Amino acid sequence: MNEPINKIAVLTSGGDAPGMNAAIRAVVRACSYYSVECVGVYRGYQGLIEGDFETISARNVSNIINKGGTILKSARSLEFKTKEGRAKAYKNLKTQGIGALVLIGGDGTFTGGLKFIKEYNFPLVGIPGTIDNDIYGTDNTIGYDTALNTVVEVIDKIRDTASSHNRLFFIEVMGRDAGFIALNAGIGAGAEEILIPEKNIGLEKFVDSLNKGRDNGKTSSIVVVSEGDKIGKNVFELADYISENFSEYDVRVSVLGHMQRGGSPSCFDRVLASRLGVAAVEALLDKSTGVMIGITENKISKVELDKAIKMNNDINIELLKVAEITSV
Ligand code: ATP
Repeated sequence: MNEPINKIAVLTSGGDAPGMNAAIRAVVRACSYYSVECVGVYRGYQGLIEGDFETISARNVSNIINKGGTILKSARSLEFKTKEGRAKAYKNLKTQGIGALVLIGGDGTFTGGLKFIKEYNFPLVGIPGTIDNDIYGTDNTIGYDTALNTVVEVIDKIRDTASSHNRLFFIEVMGRDAGFIALNAGIGAGAEEILIPEKNIGLEKFVDSLNKGRDNGKTSSIVVVSEGDKIGKNVFELADYISENFSEYDVRVSVLGHMQRGGSPSCFDRVLASRLGVAAVEALLDKSTGVMIGITENKISKVELDKAIKMNNDINIELLKVAEITSV
């Protein structure tokens, strides 16, 4: 722990998110700035286990700030969930003389990191990279803003069809456990209804609200549904129910899927990723470990990984009210 850190490794893990490349670039360049060698680990924890490492210089990360996905690739590694897998990873890091790790990923990634610290006391910090924004201890995760903009753009296009044909569109967006994308993109795209896992309004209230909109003169409607919404089993079941019981609605379903993860990161995500990448390297050089670097009220913040994993990032109640009021 007290040895000086001369080599820092960086990896991306879990689902990819736009802005991960900007974070990698910032980590690499901060290492260069502070005269520390930087090593990229390919395919997340799996690459750590297999020793899939490559030294990255400041010039190797030119022209990636604008690219979606991750140049280091990502993977889900079952082997890292085993003691044997983590032992191999530790051995590889030691053999390479790597003194600390930057993990870019979501709560699964941080859970793995925390186990690694407990077993090997290996210095590491996390950077929240996931489009879901479901991580406690930061106002935004990398990729979330870009995903919101992508979703809003697509809903705007679907609205053209919805209003031309007087249709009711159910649009499913990502978010199995968290409704951040649905709620914020829904407000941004002017959705009539937003269904999220955190608040099950119930079928009856949902139908009432739809009918109220129609009675108020709405001829088409957009309902944004989070993957994890609990009113129906899934968006198709909900749409079928409305179709079968309310023939006055011409119902269509659109599942946005993986397009939400891709694309060039927004300026917001590029700046966020750059700030978090620099702060992560500075934190490690400052002997911080076991923390996630976030941004709270526009300032760099640190939260224990344990807390980041266990605590929930609550949705903003005010936004629910805004959604309700602006959709009358
Ligand atoms: P996203 O939010 O995009 O899903 P994530 O980081 O939560 O990102 P996961 O697939 O849950 O994605 O986790 C990434 C990797 O972290 C896993 O493939 C696994 O290697 C490691 N990991 C997850 N949970 C554990 C655990 N309990 N113990 C050890 N390693 C874990």
